[in-house]
Order: sequence, then C-alpha cells, then structure tokens
Amino acid sequence: MTRAISRGRRAVLAGLAAGVSAVACASQSPASPRAVRIVVDPGHTPAQGGALGVRGIREVLYNDRLAAQLVQALTLAGFDVALTRGPTENVSLEARAQYANARQADLFLSIHHDSAQLQYLEKVTAGDLDAYRTTRPIAGYSIFVSQRNPRFAQSYAFAQVLGEEMRKLGRAPTLHHAEPIAGESRELLAPDIGIYRFDDLVVLRQTVMPAVLLEAGVIVDPADEGYVSDPGNQARMVHAVVVAVRRYVMTAGKTAGRM
Ligand SMILES: [Zn+2]
Repeated sequence: MTRAISRGRRAVLAGLAAGVSAVACASQSPASPRAVRIVVDPGHTPAQGGALGVRGIREVLYNDRLAAQLVQALTLAGFDVALTRGPTENVSLEARAQYANARQADLFLSIHHDSAQLQYLEKVTAGDLDAYRTTRPIAGYSIFVSQRNPRFAQSYAFAQVLGEEMRKLGRAPTLHHAEPIAGESRELLAPDIGIYRFDDLVVLRQTVMPAVLLEAGVIVDPADEGYVSDPGNQARMVHAVVVAVRRYVMTAGKTAGRM
C-alpha cells in the first residue's frame, strides 16, 4: 500500500481549470485549490487474477494495463491520481477502500474486465493455456454502483456521465448481469448506458467518496476481447473516462460547492 503509485501533483498549469476549480472549497485558499483527487483501482491481484479470458490471459493484466493508461491520461488532464496497488502488489479489497479514504479522494474508480456465468462458457485452449470462450455473444461495458456507498447520488451521477461517454464510442453495454440466473440478477438502473446496482461490492461500499466500478469489456468473448485488446480502443476508452471525470467534476462543483 505504501508503495502505491502516486503521480499526483498540484494542477497549476493554465488550461487545467476544469480539474481544479470545482474543489476550491471554503476552507482552502482560493489561490491554491487542490487538484481533484482520483484513486484508480486495478481489480484483482497477481495472486488472484480474476477471470480467465479467451486467450488464456488473466483479467488482472487487462486491468493493470488500462489502469496505467488511465493514470497517465488523468494526470495529464490535471488530476491528482493514485493507484490502489502496483502491478506486482497483492492488496485486499478492504485495504483499497481504506487507502482511498485515507487519501481523502474525491472519486474512486475501480477497473475490471468481465466474464460470464459458466453456463455460457466453454473451456478451450489458447496455445498451451486453458481459456474460456462464450457460447453466444456477450459483449460490452458495464458500470456498477452501490447504494451502501454514503455518496450514492454522486456515485450514480458519475456513473451516468461515464456510461454516456462509453456509449458514445459506439459499443452498447452488456445487459447479461441482469439475467435472472444464479450469480447475476443485478438490478439495472440505466439499461441504455449499462449501469447496475451492486450494493455489496466491498470497494464501493467501504469507500466514503463517490465510487464506481467499470467493467471495460468481456474478455471471454472473442469479439469483445479483441475490442479491449486494441490499442486504439484502449485510448478511446481512456479518453471517455477522462471526459466523464471532467463532466462530473464540473457538474458536482456547480451543484454542491464542494465535492
Ligand atoms: Zn474483475
């Protein structure tokens, strides 16, 4: 935890006002508002790598790659960004939330890549590696929020702009988490932009700031795995997140005075 990467810095450069002005709260000097603080959480760990994708690659590697790109882009955009863990670190879910809380983050974004229930998967091999593949197309992003997060309304507000920006990339959200089967049955809050309610997700309910979990794509689906593995699409998704954060910060700043 102590080695979690922090590339945060005060955003004092011209043109970065969108990331700065919204958190100039009353207790701080207007001359030195602190940058909006974002904690990016790459899902899973090297030891427990999450879903096994169609190319035999564990989810954690997809998460780490996209999270690293996000940190870079959000930092360039003037935000104060930190990761809950580095690529070699094993960090518990509780510790991730505690880290964001201790850091007094303004926004928490967990990055994951998706799978499906076993009944929709077949075991295949990718070279020498075991892998799973969907037996029917299951593709698209999805977004989760928890009503147990104390800032649920703000979490949902960020989820909305994130869902809208992801939808603008031309790929529909996946709705498979709402299917009435074991392991799914999640409540869809916004089907058109892929927002689900999942109250018990630890990193969403134990964080005290607005918190959202993004499933960027379905890595057991050959077409969607191809989508998220494409560097151009990764850049587009990263840009969508940056735009969403900017939109959220501007709106939150106007309506709340502070985030
Ligand atoms: Zn995951």
